[in-house]
Amino acid sequence: MNKAFDFNPYEALKSILEATSLHIGKNFIKSAADEIKKLYKADLVFITKAINFNPTTKVEVLYATDKKIPKEFELVGTPCELVFENKIVEIYENVNKDFYKEKSTDFQSFYGIPINNKTNECIGHISIFSKEKRKLAKELEDIAIIYSCKIEREIFRLELEMENEKIRKELEKLTITDPLTNTYNRRHFINSCSDLFQQVKRCDIKATLAYIDIDDFKKINDRFGHDGGDKVLIEFSNILKEQTRKGIDKIYRIGGEEFCILSINATLDSTYLHLNRLMKNSNKYFENSQYGKITLSVGLVEFTKELENFNDLVNIADKKMYEAKKSGKNTIVK
Ligand code: GH3
Ligand code: MG
Ligand code: MG
Repeated sequence: MNKAFDFNPYEALKSILEATSLHIGKNFIKSAADEIKKLYKADLVFITKAINFNPTTKVEVLYATDKKIPKEFELVGTPCELVFENKIVEIYENVNKDFYKEKSTDFQSFYGIPINNKTNECIGHISIFSKEKRKLAKELEDIAIIYSCKIEREIFRLELEMENEKIRKELEKLTITDPLTNTYNRRHFINSCSDLFQQVKRCDIKATLAYIDIDDFKKINDRFGHDGGDKVLIEFSNILKEQTRKGIDKIYRIGGEEFCILSINATLDSTYLHLNRLMKNSNKYFENSQYGKITLSVGLVEFTKELENFNDLVNIADKKMYEAKKSGKNTIVK
């Protein structure tokens, strides 16, 4: 075996400063692994996070200095397995030769450092492999522990960030979603309509707005109660969703039994055909349901550059919907 691998305090300090002062998050993990590889004159360094606990049998590789290392792996049979007993593991020579069953893993020595959380559970580890038989200087253990603590803090921060991002997305979804039908809500309709109107003004695109009102909805409530009415709204929304043309239609519930469909890259004629089909399917669905006949009145308009603002467009669509009502309901007016 080679003599103990020397420790150079200046290099160690430089390494830690290099890795920790300039980077955060994923970049921090990468730069820590790269710096450790340099400082420990290693051939391979990777940093992992446990996927399961008590016991940990599988880990996610957060960063490896060699791209051949898989993104996840089972610990069993690897030298890393021992580290998850929450101890520093040092193997001076003949480290498990078929590590990852890769042909090129002619490593001799291994140094594994657990990464512990605040309650002292092992949540990941640092692996340091060398092709040389060697023993590391005692001081390098302290440096490894400093790295381990700093990586733990960064993993914690990354997880917090991910959690915050998830919450932010959920909140964002809530602010644009109608809770009963899970379609978009009125607030989002106004924003989408305004955006689409600007798009039509700027570019040469076609778009339509369909204003849908369920006929005699009060009677449905009277017959089946408010809850029954709610169920009709949900089932009708499901029909709308099923019939959506991909990449074209977006569905909004803008009031009690009133829905709008904004369609991009759609002409008056193409949307008219689409709505006819939708209406037929909806009529058929409800005729065969416990609710019996339920029909729709629809006003359909195409976006035009000539209008002052999107409110004018919504008003025209609304008027056409009322024309449909006046002409006996169960119809589309364009
Ligand atoms: P028309 O054919 O003229 O549209 O008649 P209508 O009865 O559908 O129209 P109207 O606007 O007079 O009544 C709509 C009813 O929808 C009144 C209201 O109680 C009911 N409604 C509004 N929001 C909800 C809701 O969230 N759930 C249920 N179940 N009913 C609702
Ligand atoms: Mg109405
Ligand atoms: Mg109605």
